[in-house]
This record gives sequence, structure tokens and C-alpha cells, in this order.
Amino acid sequence: MNSYAMLIDGRSVNTPEQDPVINPAFGEPFATCARGTSAHVEAAMQAAAAAFKTWRKDEAFRRQKLRECAAAIQGKVQEIATVLSQEQGKPIAAATGEVFGAAMWLSYFADLQVPPEVLQDDDEKRIEIVRKPLGVVAAITPWNFPVILLCWKIGPAFLAGNTVVAKPSPYTPLTSLMVAETLREVLPPGVLNVLSGGNDLGAEIVSHPAARKVSFTGSVMTGKKIMAAAASDLKRVTLELGGNDPAIVLDDVNPDAVADGLFWGAFQNSGQVCTAIKRLYVHEKVYNPIVQHLVERAKSTKVGNGLDANTQLGPINNEMQLTKLMGLVDDAKKSGARIETGGVRLESSGYFYPPTIVTGAHEGMRLVDEEQFGTALPVIKYSKLEDALEQANRTHYGLGGSVWTSDLQRGKELVQEIESGTGWVNHHMDITPYAPFGGAKWSGIGHENGLWGYNEFTEMQVVNIKK
Ligand code: NAD
Repeated sequence: MNSYAMLIDGRSVNTPEQDPVINPAFGEPFATCARGTSAHVEAAMQAAAAAFKTWRKDEAFRRQKLRECAAAIQGKVQEIATVLSQEQGKPIAAATGEVFGAAMWLSYFADLQVPPEVLQDDDEKRIEIVRKPLGVVAAITPWNFPVILLCWKIGPAFLAGNTVVAKPSPYTPLTSLMVAETLREVLPPGVLNVLSGGNDLGAEIVSHPAARKVSFTGSVMTGKKIMAAAASDLKRVTLELGGNDPAIVLDDVNPDAVADGLFWGAFQNSGQVCTAIKRLYVHEKVYNPIVQHLVERAKSTKVGNGLDANTQLGPINNEMQLTKLMGLVDDAKKSGARIETGGVRLESSGYFYPPTIVTGAHEGMRLVDEEQFGTALPVIKYSKLEDALEQANRTHYGLGGSVWTSDLQRGKELVQEIESGTGWVNHHMDITPYAPFGGAKWSGIGHENGLWGYNEFTEMQVVNIKK
């Protein structure tokens, strides 16, 4: 079994104690990784703090290094994507897309132009905003998109002049360790440190005094703990948290034309996307044909091992998440909902759960109220649009939302009534490096991507000169 090492101060560091990493397609370990300790956290923090002193000084050098990082990752796409499919479960084509996307994000930040912010410049005075790096950034990532979400953080953090101590999820540590190893030759020692370990290690990293900012992507529950841990030291936080995205389908759509977008908006990455469609509200006029289209697509979708070329949906990433998903569907069934297709775990040692379409579900059922983060979608009938909008907003979540209609103007107006960080019309989950991404309400604090994301890795100083 291959063993994967951590990166601390430019050195590859392994440990006698190893943690197994499970391939969810088989439910069995296929590799191991280092188990980081408090001593490793201390070493990584000190290395990052020491590297910060010179790394912060030369922006042109950092941009060049970011370009080299992107090229180095591109040079290893197949290798990283294969392990990504094994540790996460996703189909190899999607894994390849994620790794290319990660390199693309780094290239974007390498060339992001930060416009000068001059507020006054006349005979009397000049007032200008300058943006400075914060120092050491603690970057904590989840298991659904381990490679790209790490690069969402290190791209803008490095451009601004920060150094990073990162910790991936214990379910998917290997590809982050591979990215670290890939960038070891590119970056000066200490600029990027990647540790593997459990939740406790994450807690130690975020509460370490050297960390001046925490950039976290994960669940609402952990986000709250991180905010509390950061409070005593007033560390800056960006929290990208969970979602329970509503999609509202209006009465004027052509069901055939929107069905693919709705299906993949819900089931991409086996539904394990923060901004997947998790509640689908459909007008009664088009409800039956939409359900029928979704059921047909669910039945014809190939579920299997991500490394099989014809697999469209991989397994659920881990047993705990599968158990939660099954519990939500069973609860809906017991409460009177109807399982149109799916609803039973596939017979396999792997964590496979087929795309499941649930009708007759409503508010008050856990499948509707909670984030299922898996292959089950409640499709809810409505007759009055105001009711659908009210239900869509009656939640603590507020990550994304969408409206589906043939009238773009109406869609644009309605989507603004959804309380969410992003509002899409006629698609869902479209995310680009140059548009800010973040959550309303409990779905997050702050933004990633674009200039907005970059700014969150800086401290602003107002320079006010009397002439
Ligand atoms: P999680 O919160 O359980 O874990 C995320 C990371 O936090 C892991 O690396 C974990 O080890 C670490 N961690 C756990 N406890 C910690 C603590 N006390 N201090 C510091 N670190 C700690 O989330 P998950 O199950 O890995 O990911 C799924 C969740 O992430 C879903 O809710 C999903 O919606 C959300 N998510 C959000 C976005 C977004 O951009 N908004 C993107 C992807 C996933």
C-alpha cells in the first residue's frame, strides 16, 4: 500500500503511525498517509511564519511562482486525478476536470490585476488604500472537491503574500499531499505546508497563535466551531459552509429542455456539492413531465467505480455520509413521501446509492429541511409562486438558488427574491474564478474568488498623505 507524506518547511515528512484511506468504491483502504501531531503543527506554523518574512516582499516573484505551480499541477493531471477518483469516488473524467480546474484557478490568480484604490489625489492630499498580506493562513478543506478547493485558497493567499498551512479532510488527504509534493520543488520552503490528520489537528491549526487567518470550507457545524476558536485571537475568517439550495421551476418551461440541467444540477458529484440543487420546487402545470424526465435520467445513469470509463456517478464518499443519506430517505418514506426510483443501497461493499427521486415530500421532513449531500432529490409541487419562494427561503441556509423559466427578465427578478449568495437563472452551480462565491445566512461569511476573494487574504491600510 502506498504511503503519502506531509510537506513541512519544504521537506517531505512521514510518520510511523499511519492513517488508512478508504476507496469508497470498495469500502476498503487502498493507501495510507502520515498522521500529523502537535509537533508537526508547531513545525509547520514556525516554517510558515519564517517564510512569510521574505515571501511577502516580491509580488512579481510570487506571480511567477503561481504560474509555475499551475504548470506543475498540469504536468501531473493524470496521476493526481487517478488518486482523486480512488479516494473521493468521483468518475475519472470529473476528477481530471477538477485537477485541470485547480491549475486554471492558480493561473487566474497569477495574472489577476489588482486595481489601485486612490480615494483622493489633489493639491491638498493623497488618500490611497494599500493591501497587505495577513501572515500565516490556516486552510481547512472538505472531502467533496479536495484539490480545487485547496487551490481556491492558496492562489489568492499566495498572490497577496501570505504563507499557508493546509489540512485536508481525513477522508481525502492524498491528493492534497500530492499537490504539496508537486509544488515542493516550485515554492520556497515554508510557503506551503500540508498536514494530514483528523479533526483535532484542524482545531490545533486554526487556534495556533501564528495563524492570522482561517480560510475554511466545510459544514455549518464546524464553521461555527472555527469562528468561536478564532474569536479569542480575532483571527480573520472566511467560512464557506453548507447549503440546501432550492431550484424553482416556473410554469412556462419546456420540461424536456430543462430536465438535463435540473438532473445534473442535483446529482453532479453524486450530489456531494455544496451548491447542488437539494430541493426542487416545480409548478403543478409541469410537475408530472418534469418528474418523469428526472426518473428516466436517474434510471439510465451508470453508477459505479469512478475508474471505470463509462461510470457517470461514483459512490458516496464515506460510510457516515451514506448512512445519513439513507436515514433521510427512509425518514421521508416513513412520513408518507414516495420513492419514484432508487431509494435502496446497491448491493456492493462500496458506498453506492442510486440517484433517487422523491415526490410527496414537504417542509418538516428531514430530507427537505436538512442538507442531504448525496444522491436523493425531493421534488416538491407548488401552485402559487409566493408559496414556493417562502418555502425556499424558510431555512438557515443561503448558499445558492435558481429559477428556471423561458422569460429571462422574470427569472432575473425572481431569483433576487431567493436569499442566497448566488442566484442562477436556467442553470445551477456555474462557478468561475472571477465571480465572487459565498453564502448568505448560515452558508458562510465572506467570499472566495475574484478580487473579492483576493481582498479577504489582505489587511487594508489607508495611506493618507498631506501634501
Ligand atoms: P466538515 O466540516 O466535517 O470538515 C471539513 C474540514 O474541517 C475537514 O478537513 C475536517 O477535518 C476539519 N475539521 C473538523 N472539525 C474541525 C475543527 N473543530 N477545527 C478545525 N477543522 C476541523 O465538512 P465535510 O463533511 O468534510 O464537508 C462537507 C460539507 O462541506 C458540506 O456541508 C458542504 O456543503 C460543505 N461545503 C461547502 C462548500 C462551500 O464552498 N460553501 C464547498 C464544499 C463543501
